Amino acid sequence: MAVKRDYYEVLGVGKSAVEEEIKKAYRQLAKKYHPDMNQGDKEAEGKFKEVNEAYEVLSDKDKRAKYDQFGHAGVDPNGFAGGGGFGGFGGGFEGSFGDVGDIFDAFFGGSGFGASSRRKSGPQRGADLKYEIEIDFKEAVFGVTREIQIARNESCKECNGSGAKPGSKVETCKTCGGSGEQKFTQNTVFGRVVNVRTCEECHGEGKIIKEPCSQCIGKGTVRKTRKITLDIPAGVDTGSIMPLRGEGEPGLKGGPNGDLYIYIRVKPHSQFRREGINLYCEIPISFAQAALGDDIQIETLDGDVEYAIPEGTQTGTTFKIRNKGVPSLKSKSRGDLYVTVKVNVPKKLTEQQKDLLRKFSQAVGEHEGAHSKSFFGKMKDAFK
Ligand SMILES: [Zn+2]
Ligand SMILES: [Zn+2]
Repeated sequence: MAVKRDYYEVLGVGKSAVEEEIKKAYRQLAKKYHPDMNQGDKEAEGKFKEVNEAYEVLSDKDKRAKYDQFGHAGVDPNGFAGGGGFGGFGGGFEGSFGDVGDIFDAFFGGSGFGASSRRKSGPQRGADLKYEIEIDFKEAVFGVTREIQIARNESCKECNGSGAKPGSKVETCKTCGGSGEQKFTQNTVFGRVVNVRTCEECHGEGKIIKEPCSQCIGKGTVRKTRKITLDIPAGVDTGSIMPLRGEGEPGLKGGPNGDLYIYIRVKPHSQFRREGINLYCEIPISFAQAALGDDIQIETLDGDVEYAIPEGTQTGTTFKIRNKGVPSLKSKSRGDLYVTVKVNVPKKLTEQQKDLLRKFSQAVGEHEGAHSKSFFGKMKDAFK
């Protein structure tokens, strides 16, 4: 077994290099020595492996600390490169370079190495779509049916999604034989490695269109606006999301359609406030109604209901009217309506009304000026 080089030396960074420097050095070297760029070059393969090994240790705080303290022995109890194994690299270095492709995706954003390009040629799920809808307060409480129009891509009817002008020739790609992929087999130190890339000739389509369809300009899909009927259930609220499976963008190459997500927003109500499945409102009553009690009409979303206000009701008292709230989305139950009464003090009184109130005041043991003396009188005294 060859003597291992120092990991810092491998990456060409100093011992005090920060995370960013190490990452940057690794990117450059990994790209330089990547097997895709160095077909059949044994030395490059060895360097690639060495660079990955160094990065795997130096990018990990714990491993780096152990390496700094103990050298290779600190991070390599069983022999990192011993017996030709390469188990340390995230557990996925055996066999195909596809795994390296995944690592490269993370670094280079899928620039066309290995696995990333191979994935593009397989079935792809269509994209999800999002639609926002605003409904009235009462519609949210009782449910509503709405028709919406939504634009999405659909298979072109003119060419049946092929992208080729009807009747024109579509040739199988000669470069890849129609598979859309090009395979490279390499014998490497890791064993036989099959490297798969998207065919450069047909960009993974497997066929060459001689004359594109005029309707979709060769794309195979056209933008269509469709009408969808939404059955919005009773009890939704702002923030409710209705998923409509399979109503998103169409899948490609036999992949499933994406989903359509309906985001619901509910307009506020002038009178009712909602919290979960309960509703809240305030109603004004007169002083006399509060004092004597009264049967009053209370407006609910289901229409008016009669409610008996008891004698001596204080302002701010809250009554519960059962089952006049919002239906629960989860169960068959329905919330309640909470009505808070506000006792109005009259602002404009006639002389006759004032007289009656004075008499009332005397009758309950108050006499004119009593309260003002008790408070303002004391104030005056205090300033004398
Ligand atoms: Zn077409
Ligand atoms: Zn091809």
